[in-house]
Amino acid sequence: MSVIELADVVKRYNNGDEEIAALKGVDLAVDRGEMVAIIGPSGSGKSTLLNVIGLLDTPTEGTVTLDGQDVTDLGTDGLTDRRRESIGFVFQAYHLLPIFTAVENVTVPSMWDSTVDRTDRARELLDRVGLGERLSHKPNQLSGGQQQRVAIARALVNEPHIILADEPTGNLDQDTGATILDELTRMKNEENVAIAAVTHDEQLTNYADRTVELVDGVRR
Ligand code: ADP
Repeated sequence: MSVIELADVVKRYNNGDEEIAALKGVDLAVDRGEMVAIIGPSGSGKSTLLNVIGLLDTPTEGTVTLDGQDVTDLGTDGLTDRRRESIGFVFQAYHLLPIFTAVENVTVPSMWDSTVDRTDRARELLDRVGLGERLSHKPNQLSGGQQQRVAIARALVNEPHIILADEPTGNLDQDTGATILDELTRMKNEENVAIAAVTHDEQLTNYADRTVELVDGVRR
C-alpha cells in the first residue's frame, strides 16, 4: 500500500476573472522506503503538488489517499490531525526557531500533544544525524548543513510515514548537499519512510529512486 496516492488531481486557482489550472489531472503514488524527486520548470505546478501531498491544500477535483484512507474531504481540522500524525516537512531555508536549542527545535512538531514527551527521541535522532555533541546549540551556532540535519531530525520526530522536502539542498554547496542527501537516504531506510522532494538539484535526482517531471500541470 502506498503512503500517499493522488488520483486525477486537478487544482485550479481563481485570480479575479482568470482561472489558472496549476494541476491538470495528476496521478501519483509514493511508497514507504522510496525517494521521489519532483522536477519541472518554474510554474509547472511542483509547489502546488507538494502542498496537496502535504495536506496543506485540497484539490479542486480528484482524490487524495493517505495510508489507505481517503482524506480528500476531511476538512481543515481533520487534515491538520492527519498531517501531524503522518507527514514531516523539510524546507530549503531550514526554518528553525532561533531561540530554541537543537533538541527543542526537533521536538517542536510534537508540542501540540502535551501527553507525549519526545525529548528522548529528539536526542536520539540528533545523535543519528551526527549532532550528538551539539544538542544544546542554537541555530546560529550551527552551519547550514548542521541546521538542515536538525531539520531532518525534526521532520522525523513524530515517526511520520512520509517526508516532504522543498529544495532541501537549495541553500547548500555541492559537498554539504551530498552529505544531507546521504543522511536523508540513510534515515529513509532506517525509518522506512517515503520522501517526496521538489528540486532543481540534479544531485538530488541522482539520489532519488525515481523522478516525476511536471510540465504545465501534467506529468510527463
Ligand atoms: P512551481 O512550484 O512549479 O513553480 P506552482 O505550483 O507554484 O509551480 O504554480 C503553478 C501555477 O499555479 C502557476 O501558474 C502559479 O502562478 C499558479 N499558482 C500557484 N499558487 C497560486 C495561488 N495561491 N493563487 C493563484 N495562482 C497560483
